[in-house]
Amino acid sequence: MHAIQATILVERGRIAAIYPNPHGVEIISEQGTHFYPHAWILSGLVDSHCHLYGLGNTLTGLSLYSAISAQECVQQALQYAHNSQGWIIGNGWNQELWDHNHFPHKEFLDIAFPDQPVYLRRADGHAAWVNSKALEIAGITIDTPHPLGGSILMEDSSPTGILIDNAMNLVADCIPESTPEQIKKDIVAAIHHCSSLGLTEVHDMDVHPTLLPYYLEMAESGSLPIRIQSYIKAQNDEWSTFGYLPAGGEFMRLVGLKFFADGALGSRGAALLEQYSDADTKGLFLLQEEQLFEKAVKGLEFGWNISTHAIGDAANRMVINVYERLRQQGYASQDDILRIEHAQIVHPNDIHRISLHSIKTAIQPIHCISDASMADSRLGERTSYAYPWKTLIDAGLHPAGGSDFPIESGNPFSGISAFCNRIPFLSNHAWHSEQIIHRKQAILSYTQWAHESSGMDYRRGKLHHKFDADFTIIDKNIETCHNDELESIQVLATYTAGIRRFSHNN
Ligand SMILES: [Zn+2]
Repeated sequence: MHAIQATILVERGRIAAIYPNPHGVEIISEQGTHFYPHAWILSGLVDSHCHLYGLGNTLTGLSLYSAISAQECVQQALQYAHNSQGWIIGNGWNQELWDHNHFPHKEFLDIAFPDQPVYLRRADGHAAWVNSKALEIAGITIDTPHPLGGSILMEDSSPTGILIDNAMNLVADCIPESTPEQIKKDIVAAIHHCSSLGLTEVHDMDVHPTLLPYYLEMAESGSLPIRIQSYIKAQNDEWSTFGYLPAGGEFMRLVGLKFFADGALGSRGAALLEQYSDADTKGLFLLQEEQLFEKAVKGLEFGWNISTHAIGDAANRMVINVYERLRQQGYASQDDILRIEHAQIVHPNDIHRISLHSIKTAIQPIHCISDASMADSRLGERTSYAYPWKTLIDAGLHPAGGSDFPIESGNPFSGISAFCNRIPFLSNHAWHSEQIIHRKQAILSYTQWAHESSGMDYRRGKLHHKFDADFTIIDKNIETCHNDELESIQVLATYTAGIRRFSHNN
């Protein structure tokens, strides 16, 4: 059983004893006693792939996730910018949610912001929409060559203002850095938001080394309400440039390196074995097999776990090839964790190789239900092996669940609901229902299996004697409630290391 009603004694941050309690949940610790009538308790939920700092930016900055047109994005940017000087940075637009779902144009922004540079990231983080002023500052013209692993969309005699993948950096590199006060404010907003969602731990992906001192200071001073497993940006060897090495800690652990094999499906940056069904391209590799192999070997030598983003079936195959070589040639022992992030489109011939080489997968069920109609047009019949949750589990794998917030909502119950229902947004029936997974598996994916993917399952992920006292307390029995109630489960309290970090009542 994963959800129980119990009285739990906590000593020094660990579970000291568990007794059944038919009336609800009671936590007795050095802090005192808290009783939650009719409540249920789970081992603390984990988001095993997310972007904390990005969430902070979204919570405190210009958020375009709900905009339903390019015009609405501009309206929201105008309100946000009111009389401010300097760059306007935003996140979250997604033309797939708009009436005519083609990419927006710089002209919309130019009318509202003729002199102020604007940089708006797409919801998937793999494209940016910028205005003419931003293009001018970055020196991008019709003659600018496409950078490796990126493209600058052009029409007639000028760039359209849409930059894909690595082309985004041409403008992003010109944006002045945030002040330390703003960075701290963003991180604080993000970590407390996570607690309120019932999360006790996150696997923070692609973390820029310049952010690490802030997290480490918060961990030292005891002000982190959630535990963070940090996967450091490594695509361009940032981890070694800044001189970080793996480090353990109760609340902040530097654990892995994060690479990108390809881009995303929405922007047709995911690397496919065959052409896209709706365009004359196979997508983009962001690293070649040999490059990833060499970078991973170097990381493993220094004791890092390796974690690589792979969406398309070609990218997944390439990453599996690399991991297979790492295992077979002895660079990665069985204790070294090799992860594939997303594993969205995996060719059926490659599935058994994932388990054969003890490769971990981290998947985000909400991507599936927000991508389904887009995936139909990009992939055609290949959707039969897209978002292959049950296939992975049937192959003996324990995929770790997560959200990729702020790209998607970080609510773990939305993820668990997506796992169990697989009903796309704006639809009322399941998409490839054969890949729906069992309720218990969905819960494991957000608890024990998530900890397995970072090597912490020996003391986290179960309500067991001596395990860490990380708890998510909820208002319903998640194992027996109706499928359509999963999404609306309320978090009553969140505990990490036996200390209450969030309570619904205050
Ligand atoms: Zn991500």
